Amino acid sequence: MKKISACPGWLGLAQDRQSFIFLPDKAKVVQKIFQLCVGGVGSYTIAKVLNQQSVPPFGPSPTWDQSTIDNMLRNRATIGEHQPKDWSGGVKKGTPTGKPIANYYPAVVDVATFEAAQRVRKQNLVCRRGRKGERLSNIFAGLTTCFYCSGPVKFHSNGNAKSLICESVIRGNGCIRAGWTYENFEVSVLQFLTHPALAELLPPDHAIVGLTQNVESGNHRFDMRIEIASALQRMVSALRLANAGIEPTSTLPEAQIRRDKPERRFQISLRNGPTFMGTPIFRY
Ligand SMILES: [Zn+2]
Repeated sequence: MKKISACPGWLGLAQDRQSFIFLPDKAKVVQKIFQLCVGGVGSYTIAKVLNQQSVPPFGPSPTWDQSTIDNMLRNRATIGEHQPKDWSGGVKKGTPTGKPIANYYPAVVDVATFEAAQRVRKQNLVCRRGRKGERLSNIFAGLTTCFYCSGPVKFHSNGNAKSLICESVIRGNGCIRAGWTYENFEVSVLQFLTHPALAELLPPDHAIVGLTQNVESGNHRFDMRIEIASALQRMVSALRLANAGIEPTSTLPEAQIRRDKPERRFQISLRNGPTFMGTPIFRY
């Protein structure tokens, strides 16, 4: 049998170099990195968190850095896949040859988590979020779209006013000029998702009820918000904002952006499940 020459940093190599060894402690670190990413935390902040917690890095470098995290989050070896490469061309990273081989390595994250991480990364949250610190201001990052134009709905901060507004509106490219105050939106959606009738429809690992209670009591706020964001990514497939109700009258391109119109609604679709229409909570 051919001997294995290299192996991902989170796995061990058996002494005869014929097989890989699953290392639970390192696997936990990889899972934590994916969880943070899916929760919307950028690679820069993930590296900072790991360094603060003195988590030993896998490679020769004494500390975690952003690019190591980025590479790991992209690496399909985390789900067990191996891409054979040709190293003869002198290319530093090798040239992929042939089809990837599934179940080549012991997987350390599941496919759903890996794909959620790619979705979040695609939304370009990573660098923007990472450098801003650890507040995790928007737990819905990458999930929200516009009911009217289907474009992304973005977290928009204007001094103290933080709201969710259609990207088209922010850029002055049309759509309905309305926004939803972030805090009210968050309360409304979480209240909706923790309703006992809905909680029954959710798989037990989506224990968002317990998580939100912890947030309200102020314990481990940042960690809990990450877990809620991560649970949302796993349970919600679409979250569409109708900031001006379901049948709004069109607005002029130069009209003021109106926030928190009373007719506003959100439409939420659960993964492999039903779609609901939710209303705002009036609690100020
Ligand atoms: Zn729109």
